[in-house]
Amino acid sequence: MIIVYLLLQFKKSKKEMTTIDNFNFEGKKALIRVDFNVPLDEDFNVTDVTRIESAKPTILKILEDGGSCILMSHLGRPKGVSPEFSLSHIVETVSEIIGVQVKFVNDCIGESVEEAVSTLEMGEILLLENLRFYDEEKKGDKDFAEKLSKFGDIYVNDAFGTAHRAHASTAIIAQFFEDNKCFGYLLAKEIESINKVLNNSEKPVTAILGGAKVSSKIGVIENIIEKVDHIIVGGGMTFTFIKALGGTIGNSLVEDDKLALALEILELAKAKNTQIHLPVDAIIADDFNNDANTQVVDTNAIPQGWMGLDCGPKTSVNFAEVIANSKTILWNGPLGVFEMENFAKGTIELGNAIADATSKCAFSLVGGGDSVAAVKQFGFADKVSYVSTGGGAMLEMLEGKQLPGIEAILN
Ligand code: AMP
Repeated sequence: MIIVYLLLQFKKSKKEMTTIDNFNFEGKKALIRVDFNVPLDEDFNVTDVTRIESAKPTILKILEDGGSCILMSHLGRPKGVSPEFSLSHIVETVSEIIGVQVKFVNDCIGESVEEAVSTLEMGEILLLENLRFYDEEKKGDKDFAEKLSKFGDIYVNDAFGTAHRAHASTAIIAQFFEDNKCFGYLLAKEIESINKVLNNSEKPVTAILGGAKVSSKIGVIENIIEKVDHIIVGGGMTFTFIKALGGTIGNSLVEDDKLALALEILELAKAKNTQIHLPVDAIIADDFNNDANTQVVDTNAIPQGWMGLDCGPKTSVNFAEVIANSKTILWNGPLGVFEMENFAKGTIELGNAIADATSKCAFSLVGGGDSVAAVKQFGFADKVSYVSTGGGAMLEMLEGKQLPGIEAILN
């Protein structure tokens, strides 16, 4: 018994999160994997600085300790070295946001980098060129990772957006640092927020899953169905469920090969005592177009030639009531085609309901590319508890998968 207990304790302690707060960086070079994969316009100006701002607390803590920062990132999907994907485009923006002039070196391994790193003084920041100019990065090449590892005394992973990839700089590199590796503030906060929803939540817990397809959310539904009290289904996914239940859905988005699966999910929810809430009405359109004719009908009675593009007013009221009674809320995926003004109302009303619940002390986590775009577009970003910076990474965590970038630090 005692041995089992000790083994469990050992396993637990091994899995405890080591963050940058566990280190004093005075006199140390921190090699930080950040996610500066930011959108650029045609003149190479950064159009959304969220990811840079998110890395700022980690960088400042290291500088304030008296250390220096060597930043590694990828940008876009270059095929070999391509100037349009150079991280040199973002140097001035990063400098402005951090408040320190950032140095740049036009490679990420090799002599020029060795030189730049060796002359880097404490309190300074060096940004390396796009890691993906080398195929070895995405291949998770061990030699490439080892070369990168030589540039820092302590490895910090603060890139949640790529934590689900076993790339050289996100996971493989960690083995060269033994105990000198940790999570940055951003990655730690992402892990903590998802854990708070999945494992440590105050009940009732409600998950809102919208977006286009059941197939892309099925892993999430299966993993959370036992952990939450309510699942609100919205967006294009709705119609696969409604058709499976015998409704008429006109020309709405549907995955005919997922009808049986939709019924299985409903059955499983019943067995686990989880309530699934489907839209009862929809805003339908006679074309996939903002200027199409529209009407509001019951979700299960959509005429031929029409398609559901948003949830209707009765649905918004129902969903708002569930949310008002929730203490923990997870939102992934819009409730309609919010990119078109006439089909954004359901998503906006949902955002209002979540903001309202958050102001009354519920914990709300928003993640997944399109819901993040929606909360930003409609001004809810400051009114929810946490907006995740990782789309794919967040989905994989919600699916219950181990993320290589996280495991590499924990193990
Ligand atoms: P996802 O990436 O799966 O979260 O899907 C997001 C996309 O789903 C957005 O671009 C929405 O426009 C789209 N979407 C939401 N509701 C519908 C709908 N009723 N019909 C078609 N597409 C939808």
